[in-house]
Amino acid sequence: MPAKITMSDSGALNVPDNPTIPFIQGDGTGVDIWPAARVVFDAACAKHGKAIDWLEVLAGQRAYDETGEWLPQETVDTFSEYLIGIKGPLTTPIGGGIRSLNVALRQLLDLYVCLRPVRWFQGVPSPVRHPEKVDMVIFRENTEDVYAGYEVEEGTDEAKRLIEILNTELGFSVRPDSGVGIKPISSTGSKRLIRAAIEYAQRNKRESVTLVHKGNIQKFTEGAFRKWGYELVREEFSETAVGWDDCNGNPGGKILVKDTIADITLQQVLTRPEDFDVIATTNLNGDYLSDALAAQVGGIGIAPGGNINYVTGHGIFEATHGTAPKYAGQDKVNPGSVILSGVMMFEHLGWNEVASNIVSALEATIVDKVVTYDFARLMDGAKEVSCSRFASEIVSRL
Ligand code: NAP
Repeated sequence: MPAKITMSDSGALNVPDNPTIPFIQGDGTGVDIWPAARVVFDAACAKHGKAIDWLEVLAGQRAYDETGEWLPQETVDTFSEYLIGIKGPLTTPIGGGIRSLNVALRQLLDLYVCLRPVRWFQGVPSPVRHPEKVDMVIFRENTEDVYAGYEVEEGTDEAKRLIEILNTELGFSVRPDSGVGIKPISSTGSKRLIRAAIEYAQRNKRESVTLVHKGNIQKFTEGAFRKWGYELVREEFSETAVGWDDCNGNPGGKILVKDTIADITLQQVLTRPEDFDVIATTNLNGDYLSDALAAQVGGIGIAPGGNINYVTGHGIFEATHGTAPKYAGQDKVNPGSVILSGVMMFEHLGWNEVASNIVSALEATIVDKVVTYDFARLMDGAKEVSCSRFASEIVSRL
């Protein structure tokens, strides 16, 4: 009998063997990659005595066509009730009331961590010489920063009022023909994100957590993020972690918490990726960093992500790329990012055998050079297969 995933008082997830999991197929290439990924999920679960009761919910173009709403309340309520879900890419409505459905879902469920593991899988074509040195897990803050949506358009009454207050009451000198955006970064938001990163490092026996910020210029937002991170280590993690300045870079077996400026980080993740392990960063930095890193290990065709609130237990796992409309319905694109988002979901549920079985089978398929177009164009001697065929090749190697 299907059952719900619930959260215990101690904060752990109770996961039945036959859980109901809501999913959004997604727009554009969602029609190709979701069914392909689902075939892999169902086959891998069956091998390990598990079965998922999939519950479809609507969002995006399909929801709009069927209900007149881009993000029906029923969808948000279903994700809220069942805790864990998975989704394909969604069209961003142009000129509608919602800026981005993904941002809306994250904010409505307060999914404050955007989790992006970045590692190389054997056989995957890469533009760098040592992709195997890349093994990082990015914790990107998901609810604040310039993504909070506090922006006013140049020339509007709101912009004029705001600029007047800034210029007359705060001594700023903002040009009257400016649009203005506000970047809120709070102690609460920063600490809960960094807490999640350090706890992840503890659970997964990782060696370091790097706080990535632009605090040399934006002292009271990005700089404060860094300061609150080190404060948190002293307040809550003194047994298991230590800040760089408190140990001179010698953590003595504890998790080392260090920090780097965002711009140099984008160089160093390329030139010395082995120095980075878990990364905790603000929203915009995390956006740039995760796509730059994904490029080193195979590109967005196989970049997975998860949006998680570790306190309420809510989590929605998702392909990080968009709907790639020019390929929609062609059974062509790489389903890898949804498949690996499922792997993240299974790891989050504690179904580690299911997760590692899928990873091994995916790796074996790529090592055999059986790949979709995006990898085939970068590999010598590859056999290009369709999206659905790639999935069935993975299933045959489970
Ligand atoms: P996109 O859909 O991510 O596609 C950009 C390019 O990435 C594609 O042309 C393709 O490259 C490559 N690509 C994407 N998915 C792939 C896959 N599964 N396998 C292999 N390659 C893949 O970006 P976009 O065209 O800028 O955005 C289209 C729509 O998606 C927009 O409405 C946007 O707002 C939305 N979007 C949604 C999400 C989300 O739901 N999480 C994220 C980003 C964008 P090649 O052309 O080189 O083959």
